[in-house]
Amino acid sequence: MRVLLIGGGGREHALALGIYADPAVAQLVAAPGNPGIADLAITRDVDGASPHAVAALAVEVAADLVVVGPEAPLVAGVADAVRAKGIACFGPSAAAAQLEGSKAFAKDVMGAAGVPTAKSRACTTRAEAEQALDEFGAPYVVKNDGLAAGKGVVVTDDRDAALAHAEACGRVVIEEYLDGPEVSLFVVTDGEAALPLMPAQDFKRVGDGDTGPNTGGMGAYAPLDWAPPGLVDEVMDSVAHPTLAEMRRRGTPFAGLLYIGLALTKAGPRVIEFNARFGDPETQVVLALLETPLAGLLRAAATGTLGDHPPLRWRPGAAVTVVLASEGYPTSSRSGDVITGADRAGIIHAGTARRAADGALVSAGGRVLCGTATGPDLASAREAAYALVDGVTLAGSHRRSDIALAAVEGRVYVP
Ligand code: AMP
Repeated sequence: MRVLLIGGGGREHALALGIYADPAVAQLVAAPGNPGIADLAITRDVDGASPHAVAALAVEVAADLVVVGPEAPLVAGVADAVRAKGIACFGPSAAAAQLEGSKAFAKDVMGAAGVPTAKSRACTTRAEAEQALDEFGAPYVVKNDGLAAGKGVVVTDDRDAALAHAEACGRVVIEEYLDGPEVSLFVVTDGEAALPLMPAQDFKRVGDGDTGPNTGGMGAYAPLDWAPPGLVDEVMDSVAHPTLAEMRRRGTPFAGLLYIGLALTKAGPRVIEFNARFGDPETQVVLALLETPLAGLLRAAATGTLGDHPPLRWRPGAAVTVVLASEGYPTSSRSGDVITGADRAGIIHAGTARRAADGALVSAGGRVLCGTATGPDLASAREAAYALVDGVTLAGSHRRSDIALAAVEGRVYVP
């Protein structure tokens, strides 16, 4: 199988590792890729967000399967353009990717499908925003309606700050606050059949103890030994299947990766958000534990044959990933600083580049890389992941020191 992978972040490096390890894969091409992916794939400097350019590249490299990593190309219609060339594509159509592209659309689908989620209001004016904030009360949750790379949500007790975010975004969804631990569940689907992957937990805030602003994610771990038994079955029955059925009913079936972000509240699991692609950095830990060949699984979803796919197999043990971010992230980020110590198995590249002058590895984004490790248990996986990131030097960089710590210490709240 010849696979073309679109994207160039940590999620795509993790996907590349899984695809490369699949014995059915003869060639992997990535666009644009990154220096870590370049060790596994031929990289091509093609704009992944351009449907025309990606479809042309898929034809040129005679791809049997195109895997789209990030959300922006999906929302732009890359999967539609690839399929129009008769090539299988893992990733939803532009219409179906609206589950991530618009929070208001996602809420509408959830409402129609009877999916448990926070009560919400779509607001475009200051008066509407004020009314919704007062209806739901503090803590206030204000979400940019459109794509915001995981940074469009403000959760605050400060009504003025909530209102300021609403006004800065223009169109927002304001919703009730959901209290409880968060879980990310990835569901691979061909639109009808659906296979859940292992639930994971990520750490959205920049600082230890969940302080500071939201980021794209600062670390993750799996499995969640503290999660209630039956959680995955419950979420498949109450969220995944009703959502997929509603998307089919609308004539825009969702095929690809349905990311279900959940809060486990006292009243049961509630959807915080949908994404139309693998989550970053949860993908790093989930795929580190997946034994089933990845390209075959994604191809089954892309070709409507997931119903015939054998059950998934998982490696025993646990996985942890810790993100190393550049100075200033998430408010700003520094680029061009030299990185050393990254040349080790388990280092996953996110925002890195090769310096043109001498080929040195340099930072090129907010989340620069992550250390991903597995182990027989969570404590050993955690230790190994920290050993990996702490072996990397990058001026001004920072990381959280409490990724997976509560779970190792048995301190996770169980509803
Ligand atoms: P989202 O982009 O929708 O995943 O939101 C980013 C983060 O904001 C989530 O991971 C939660 O930590 C937080 N968040 C979003 N919606 C809510 C909510 N209704 N109640 C509490 N926290 C929320």
